[in-house]
Amino acid sequence: MGKRYYCAYCDRSFKDDPEARKRHLSSLQHAKNRADHYNLYKDPEVILMEESAKTPCKRYLTVGDCAFGLGCRFSHYTPHMLWELQQLVDMKNASKLYAVPENGWPNPDDILKEYFENAESSSNTEVPNCSSWFRPLEVHDYSMLPPSLWPITSESLSDNLTFKEWG
Ligand SMILES: [Zn+2]
Ligand SMILES: [Zn+2]
Repeated sequence: MGKRYYCAYCDRSFKDDPEARKRHLSSLQHAKNRADHYNLYKDPEVILMEESAKTPCKRYLTVGDCAFGLGCRFSHYTPHMLWELQQLVDMKNASKLYAVPENGWPNPDDILKEYFENAESSSNTEVPNCSSWFRPLEVHDYSMLPPSLWPITSESLSDNLTFKEWG
């Protein structure tokens, strides 16, 4: 009898051949169970911590099947599943910087792509020299402006305004 592939998300096992595994992993039922599985725990970080701390299930690892399923006190998480969880945790942490989309976390590849695109575009735009921001304030040349916009100083008041003319 050949090795059996156990899917902890779906809590079921089947004959382990690449074709059957691929078909299962791409099935709607599996996608749903996998989503439910994560929704159940809410925080992938918690699962990752718990599963990493657990001893791997010997029965699951040798036979590829374990009657206890998700209730097993040993970890049924394969290194790949733990890796996948780690990605999810990383993605979630990275996503805190972005608005979380309604339909779930974005693809990590997209995040990376977005990150590098942003990094590229921001390096292309010139960072303005801070001192240049203050220069206009230091140039006290108001001759181009109408007198009413000139800054009021005691000098301008005595030199330019004749209060008598105001009646
Ligand atoms: Zn499955
Ligand atoms: Zn087990």
